[in-house]
Amino acid sequence: MRCALRRFSLTKAVPLAISRGTTATVEHLLLSVEHEGVTGWGETGGFDTGHRSFTTGSIAAELEALLPTLETLVPEPRQAFDSLLAPLSPPARCAVDLALLDWWGKRLDQPLGRLWGLDHRAVVPTSVTLGLGTVEAVLERLELWWRQLPATRIKLKLGSPAGLDHDRALVEAVRGALARQADRTGVACELQVDANGGWDRDGARAMVGWLGEQGVVLVEQPLPPQADPDADCAAFADLELDCPIPLVADESCWDLSDVVRLAPFVDGVNIKLLKSGGLSEALLMACTARRLGLAVMVGCYSDSALLNGSAAQLLPLVDWPDLDSHLNLLDDPFLPPPLIQDVLQPGRSAGVGVLPCPNGSLADLSPPTLLSTSPC
Ligand SMILES: [Mg+2]
Repeated sequence: MRCALRRFSLTKAVPLAISRGTTATVEHLLLSVEHEGVTGWGETGGFDTGHRSFTTGSIAAELEALLPTLETLVPEPRQAFDSLLAPLSPPARCAVDLALLDWWGKRLDQPLGRLWGLDHRAVVPTSVTLGLGTVEAVLERLELWWRQLPATRIKLKLGSPAGLDHDRALVEAVRGALARQADRTGVACELQVDANGGWDRDGARAMVGWLGEQGVVLVEQPLPPQADPDADCAAFADLELDCPIPLVADESCWDLSDVVRLAPFVDGVNIKLLKSGGLSEALLMACTARRLGLAVMVGCYSDSALLNGSAAQLLPLVDWPDLDSHLNLLDDPFLPPPLIQDVLQPGRSAGVGVLPCPNGSLADLSPPTLLSTSPC
């Protein structure tokens, strides 16, 4: 098969601040694999969870070294790639896994979710994210979201460097805004909280009980992830006893082994394709989590519509979709998955269900028949 690796940049309309820092622009990678006239695409890029990090440059170097071998192979059967992909970093594996699955779905002319037997009607609203900032800036961001879509699920980032009092002020202010919105629209709004590992043990203990009293529906990664898996589990186990609302692991949960490891100590897991190494592992994780009685969240980093649309193929298995990064981009080179009100839908076209934007930076990927479609 023929393979190509390209870089593209993504610019956020509103920079996002979390406990570890602020992101305004990122550079991502697009891997394409072409065989017998069918092309599959996979996106990847660097990210940082506090205890593990990957740069786009290091991922590009891994993929560039792999390309000569990939080009000697054909895209199926997918199982034949397992030993080749196992040594790669998760984000490098993600690009290859997605490109091969996209190729496979296109070859069979079906979206992946349909090939997996998923019910595309079984989808629930996605959350939109409020980053850290002043109370005024966070409320302004919420109003901006509501001008864009009728969001009913709001994820508020906490773990502010300004401390717990500022975190509490943010929760109270956003709660008030959600109550006023519910009065206006007659539709209840849900508040989720994500500390991104920004609290210590005592702070987390104090916050989770208070968040329960505030009607917050879940708390994500209150404590920093730990490289030692036993210590990581022990920290969740210790906190779970005091936590009256669902406790969700994100930075601590990368792959299937983490789902199994964390299952006794958390109520849900946040699956992201860059952490899992692609959709093959993410599907296993989502199915296993549900079988173990865990709720499933599917999240994103600063990803384009290609990665979020790929993850959207899993949405029928997801309780808390969190795929909003592409909704905050100025220069997404891909067309967004369908959005009905605040419910993101799995794309219905073949493969991962995502097409390049005819006027975007990767417009030369578009087949000629796409050139007459409406601009992004
Ligand atoms: Mg998170």
